[in-house]
Amino acid sequence: MPPLLIQNGRVIDPAQDMDRVTNLLVADGRVAAYDARPTGNETVIDAAGKIVSPGLIDMHVHLREPGFEEDETIDSGTAAALAGGFTSIACIPNTDPPIDSQAAVEFVRDRAQKADHCNVLVVACVSKNREGKELAEIGQLVEAGAVAFSDDGSPVSDAELMRRAFQYCLMFDKPVLSHAEIRELTQQGVMHEGLVSLVLGLPGIPAAAEDVMISRDVALAEATGGRLHVMHVSTAGGIDVLRRAKSRGVRVTAEATPHHFTLTDECLRAFDANFKMSPPLRGREHVDAVIAGLADGTIDAVASDHAPHAREKKMQELDQAPFGVVGLETSLGLVVAKLIEPGHLDWPAAIRKMSLNPARILGIPKGTLAIGADADVTIIDPKARWTVDPAQFRSKSANTPFAGMELTGRAEVVIVGGRVKYQRK
Ligand SMILES: [Zn+2]
Ligand SMILES: [Zn+2]
Repeated sequence: MPPLLIQNGRVIDPAQDMDRVTNLLVADGRVAAYDARPTGNETVIDAAGKIVSPGLIDMHVHLREPGFEEDETIDSGTAAALAGGFTSIACIPNTDPPIDSQAAVEFVRDRAQKADHCNVLVVACVSKNREGKELAEIGQLVEAGAVAFSDDGSPVSDAELMRRAFQYCLMFDKPVLSHAEIRELTQQGVMHEGLVSLVLGLPGIPAAAEDVMISRDVALAEATGGRLHVMHVSTAGGIDVLRRAKSRGVRVTAEATPHHFTLTDECLRAFDANFKMSPPLRGREHVDAVIAGLADGTIDAVASDHAPHAREKKMQELDQAPFGVVGLETSLGLVVAKLIEPGHLDWPAAIRKMSLNPARILGIPKGTLAIGADADVTIIDPKARWTVDPAQFRSKSANTPFAGMELTGRAEVVIVGGRVKYQRK
């Protein structure tokens, strides 16, 4: 494999506090040198006018395999990840069977290796069979390669089980990823509980269902010293709890999804299941709180919660259709259009939330372009204007709430382990 010389790009690497135009040399799958000059032996990539970022990492992706191959497979999902600019993703274990055994972790890792698109980190179940009753074999799962634990899709409703999950995961320094929802409060809910749900006559999901669970999890993390990561935070109250927890040193991190910083519950007026997800699209004040949380660092990461569903499932009535939307191929464009362009985040801060911070939360040595690091690189055209067209998705599913939206910025070249795995035509 010849070395790669990425020429004249604006290299942004928050881990090194770097933001400058330079030539980056990649050799033997690693970052080899800066300010390198061409010798004629390299494959040259012209990155003038482009941003050269540490490979983007999406820490919340549902790959659906095994069990729901009609929605997505490890092959199609990782291809979609590449097209979205991601060199690594963490997959969530609510498959069928759920990823709660060494064999299941090995199955995913093996399939991902065969697909040979991007890196796949495996999140394993907190509870056996994801039933919320008995703790999974945390130690064995870590040994098999699990990087974090979550029953996402469902909350861990039993507080004692969650407390023990924190204690066990702490022994291996792994985070527990929480889908924060008090099920007794959400019941048959379809959308955010507020004025719009009232007008539409749809059963609501109150913000309190999330606020209360985040408070519980923060208390348990604080009591045990365990590591809590709150997934898809969507409420002003929840973000307030996180802000205060961080200020007193609780080991808590959080992520937000592009749909939660972009869309409001007003979208449900279309009665389209592509706006149905959990947690639901909230009111404007919550969206503003998510943006403020991202801006002030309360929210560490942007993650898509990519949740593909085959067309026939999402075509059902709103109350019947499953929760979730795809996100891998629109995440970066939404970060640029909705966070960077309006001035909520600058480029280094955005890249930090899409690479370095997820890497640190997952405890993997990625998210940086330091010399010697794995050569996972995303080359971004920050000015590219494009329109979301679900027909172009690499994902097997097209359940996006962003069809037809004009976005800015997209990945042009994606390099994984020193190999060009994706190049936009
Ligand atoms: Zn969830
Ligand atoms: Zn999820």
